[in-house]
Amino acid sequence: MSENPAPRRRIHELPDELVSQIAAGEVVERPASVVRELVDNALDAGATQVTVRLLAGGVRSIVVEDDGAGIERADLPLALKRHATSKIGSLAELESVSTMGFRGEALAAIASVSEMTVTTRTAEAAHAWRLHARSGELAPAARGIGTTVEVQELFFSTPARRKFLKTDATEFAHALEAVRRHALARPDVGFAVWHEGRLAAQWRAAAPAQRWADVLGADFTHSSRELLWERGPLVLAGRVGQPEAARARADLQYLFVNGRHVRDRMLAHAVRSAYEDQLHGSRQPAYALFLTIEPELVDVNVHPTKIEVRFRDGRALHSAFRLAVTEALAPTRATAPKAAAAPAEPVEAFRAWQPALALPETASVARESSPLWPGDKEDGAWRTPRGSGGLSAWQHLLEGSPHSASAAPVADASAWPLGRAVAQIGGVYVLAENAQGLIVVDMHAAHERIVYERLKRSRDAGAAQSALPSQPLLIPLSFSATPAECATAETEAATLLELGLDVAALTAHTLVLRSRPAALPDGDRTDLVELTRSVLAELAEATGDDAARGGAVVQRARDDLLATMACRGAVRANRRLTLEEMNALLREMEQTERADTCNHGRPTWRQVTMKELDGLFLRGR
Ligand code: ADP
Ligand code: MG
Repeated sequence: MSENPAPRRRIHELPDELVSQIAAGEVVERPASVVRELVDNALDAGATQVTVRLLAGGVRSIVVEDDGAGIERADLPLALKRHATSKIGSLAELESVSTMGFRGEALAAIASVSEMTVTTRTAEAAHAWRLHARSGELAPAARGIGTTVEVQELFFSTPARRKFLKTDATEFAHALEAVRRHALARPDVGFAVWHEGRLAAQWRAAAPAQRWADVLGADFTHSSRELLWERGPLVLAGRVGQPEAARARADLQYLFVNGRHVRDRMLAHAVRSAYEDQLHGSRQPAYALFLTIEPELVDVNVHPTKIEVRFRDGRALHSAFRLAVTEALAPTRATAPKAAAAPAEPVEAFRAWQPALALPETASVARESSPLWPGDKEDGAWRTPRGSGGLSAWQHLLEGSPHSASAAPVADASAWPLGRAVAQIGGVYVLAENAQGLIVVDMHAAHERIVYERLKRSRDAGAAQSALPSQPLLIPLSFSATPAECATAETEAATLLELGLDVAALTAHTLVLRSRPAALPDGDRTDLVELTRSVLAELAEATGDDAARGGAVVQRARDDLLATMACRGAVRANRRLTLEEMNALLREMEQTERADTCNHGRPTWRQVTMKELDGLFLRGR
């Protein structure tokens, strides 16, 4: 309680100008917000070309020109009034609004914090009209059909707000970003942005894929996949970045709902979750996604600048996004894009690529029954280990696979996306030769992914019992264990069984393992002991928090366990591989989903093209 209470003041209605200025606070934060609102209006007016001219980052001047329908002279003064709009007339229309604007406050708000003029001409008018917002003066002007809005000296009357502006360069960057978003959403419209009299960016009308490439750049296009997903009235399109194109910041994440750029934590989460086991926690995926949905199913009137929306059925959308992105990311790069770049003879080329393109289950059948399959030529080239007598470690490792690729003999190395193995170096890398040049594979990372995907498939196949198929050990394996490990083995017996591990306490200091996951490569006994120990350690950690054992947490913990098992089960560095083993690994990679990245988001292989090799040796071709 203050000793001098504020003097009682009478209640009075605020003057219109002040109301607009207060409202402007919500809509007009900086020059970029003005640009966004004016371009929204141009698009709503049916413009096919929008030109934005800025001075001093937009602080001194923002001019937006369009070739849209224009405003009739009689309506012109109304356009600048608060809550005056041509876009909706009833609550019902609000619920199915398809225009960018509908609140009728942008022009009024902008006019209240700047010097604004609107010059406009409709198709019917003999000439254009120009309205000066502050004075209300309306005069004939010269202009083709369309509208030009000029906004000068933004925030000149509200110095407090002006102080919040950053440097001209920063404000310009924000304004340009606003136009980029429009350009992404409307490939059919041409955009140009000028700053200080220089053309800063230009996008001509184009097909969506072309426009996305133009705006997002070659790097992103190169390292991303196209996504198109349709279910009933819901269409999701766009591009999603490969895991290795992930960024430290969430600065390349675009989401559009019915052409409007929005931020939505739920959908961002859904997208992120599709990268779950391919990205390190802090890495941010890059994507541009465009959702088309019935307007009735989304409420766009929850935020003054409409940057946030509310969905009727958020849950369904969440799973749709997650699924669509997962599917887009799933096929390995080792198979898909090479097929597009297939050589001239289409039929032969198709046959050559067939095993890599076919579904895993059918691949081996297609291969063996095709008389034209290159392998049938039997020209004595290298073979994968089928029946080759060499009971190699790799054959063991791959045996667990439900559809191992190792059975296919192949004559022509270039027929395989990942080529023919030629050597192993440093105990870590496998080198292979394919049609494009040299392939370098991180064998542990690649094998880890293969094993992980296999474990997941195996788990999902046994989904009814929700357990991983297990295989009894001929000779049970007993090993010494700490009291903590014994305790975990006892309390988590059920979970361990679900993971295919039948482990029980034999004495107070000994555990015995009676079965192992069938999908896991057949490592030696020390590997199995290590695997069991790491699973026990992880379980002990995960179950510390009983309250958190909701479905998702358990599911996640299980995925983590599978990842641990995959890492333990995968071939170690410094293991010498035969050529046959290396080739078997390459074939398996070609058939494994997400084989391009290991479980931690690192790439598993790289292509060095002949051109790059030639470049190294300054050799022209
Ligand atoms: P809203 O877009 O929510 O309707 P605004 O204040 O942004 O509100 O615009 C008010 C009205 O002015 C619009 O409804 C539209 O009729 C008209 N208008 C604004 N800009 C343009 C333009 N570039 N071309 C044609 N009409 C426009
Ligand atoms: Mg508007």
